[in-house]
Amino acid sequence: MSRNPIACNSAKGLTQLARSPLSGISVCVVGAGPAGVYTALQCWRKGHNVRILERSPVARTQGDFFMVAPQVINHIKTWPDMAEENDRIAADPRVSLHRNTGERISGPLPFRFDKGADAGAELDPTKRFHFHHRPKFLQMLISQLGRIGVQIEYGCRVAEFHEDADKAGVRLDDGRTIEADVVVAADGIGTKSHTLVSGQDIRAWPSRLAGFRAAFPVEMIAGGDAELSERTKILDDGHPHFQIFNGQGLHMTLMRTEDIITWGMTHKDEGTASESWYESVDPSTVLGYVSTIPTFPSFLRRLIEATPKDGIVDWKIMWRNPQPLTTSPLGRVVQVGDAAHTLLPSSMNGANQALEDAIYLASCLELGGKENVHWATKVHNKLRFERVSCCQKLGFVNLAKRTNRDAKTANTKKTEDMVPEQGRWLWGHNPEMYVCDNFHKALDHLQRGTPFQNTNIPPGYVHEEWAVDELMARVERNEPLNLGGDWS
Ligand SMILES: Cc1cc2nc3c(=O)[nH]c(=O)nc-3n(C[C@H](O)[C@H](O)[C@H](O)COP(=O)(O)OP(=O)(O)OC[C@H]3O[C@@H](n4cnc5c(N)ncnc54)[C@H](O)[C@@H]3O)c2cc1C
Repeated sequence: MSRNPIACNSAKGLTQLARSPLSGISVCVVGAGPAGVYTALQCWRKGHNVRILERSPVARTQGDFFMVAPQVINHIKTWPDMAEENDRIAADPRVSLHRNTGERISGPLPFRFDKGADAGAELDPTKRFHFHHRPKFLQMLISQLGRIGVQIEYGCRVAEFHEDADKAGVRLDDGRTIEADVVVAADGIGTKSHTLVSGQDIRAWPSRLAGFRAAFPVEMIAGGDAELSERTKILDDGHPHFQIFNGQGLHMTLMRTEDIITWGMTHKDEGTASESWYESVDPSTVLGYVSTIPTFPSFLRRLIEATPKDGIVDWKIMWRNPQPLTTSPLGRVVQVGDAAHTLLPSSMNGANQALEDAIYLASCLELGGKENVHWATKVHNKLRFERVSCCQKLGFVNLAKRTNRDAKTANTKKTEDMVPEQGRWLWGHNPEMYVCDNFHKALDHLQRGTPFQNTNIPPGYVHEEWAVDELMARVERNEPLNLGGDWS
């Protein structure tokens, strides 16, 4: 497809950005999280006409760190300004593993996606660990949106999605209606689009697991506490140190960058955790939890004490069974990101799937064209579903890895055994090229029933339906998950 170079405002003056010819397709995106903002960016790039609505009055400024995988980073880097900003703001930590006494077992080592690579070899920058501060990552995407001239419309809370054969629309809670050729529900796990898409409200349910998360300025621990400063310092080679503490009753992570210190702890949800970054718990709640772990290191206790009172979020992990249908009956409303899937413990992939969704959808709309918007959204659904289902299954693989009997004592484990699995099928994927190669085959399959098999899943894996409860029961009984196929 030919591209037009477009001059855009940039920190460095004007940047040449390749934009596809205008498609005439209008896209209204609901939600300005990672899924919504990247959908808006990528749709603009594919020549569509975009607007984006967000219920909050301003962009989110709170949050901790998350891992963004190579298949997504490599795509972000096709935007010249973001390539530079991404490198500047992403941490590339070295990882080490500790017992729940604080004693180090192994590391610090680079995290390698490419496990087949020679351990001593220079780390390939396209396969390195990118650990991003959520608010900075989102702000990077939002700044790029501003540079292409698309402004987020804040304070627009969508109450309802609707469609007819020619248009889709949303009704805002202030009564206004907004229409477009396609409406993208990127409004997160509590999406209002289920009633239209699935015919019923599909709520996620609490997993009984939750995570305390904190991120705060590093000055708040510097100074007085020599042991805490030493245990959280940046390594001599300049890399941040991502530390995992694992053992009976404890899974905790800790890292500091030049300006931020962040820690997280998974715990059983006693019914108090919230689904919002904005609901915080007092450090005494976390101290109460760790008081049940007799070996809990005292410097970590002091870290928790030093965390600002409103600085700890207790995030409830929610589950929803895989949703094979993410497109409305007439194909004009389509869900992406957390609206379309759910967060699983240790999958470390929610944001990655959200951004992949954005890339898939924008390309499908481009290849389908204005007359075929309703088919394009269905092809998007066909191309993504099995892959997303595999990503969700991976959450159980990693949960099992973390909580199996060996991991509970953490005596025999190495750092690599504790770092979540990320198979080549996942990180080695090129989402834009995949859609380009498969759009017409999948369209033929949907329109004429010609055979079609997705290849963006673990080689040899045959998709089958599964449910959260069934896999969780296997993890709890320490039984093999019997996935089939090559997940390495
Ligand atoms: C503790 C934790 C750790 C995680 N770690 C990782 C990780 O390491 N790697 C990774 O890839 N992912 C990780 N994730 C998952 C990742 O954060 C999510 O998958 C990702 O944020 C989803 O993006 P989204 O844009 O779909 O949804 P959200 O980020 O939830 O954004 C939805 C947006 O829609 C807006 N909105 C909601 N309702 C409406 C409405 N009615 N009208 C208008 N706007 C609305 C919201 O205000 C919000 O801005 C983690 C998540 C958690 C909770």
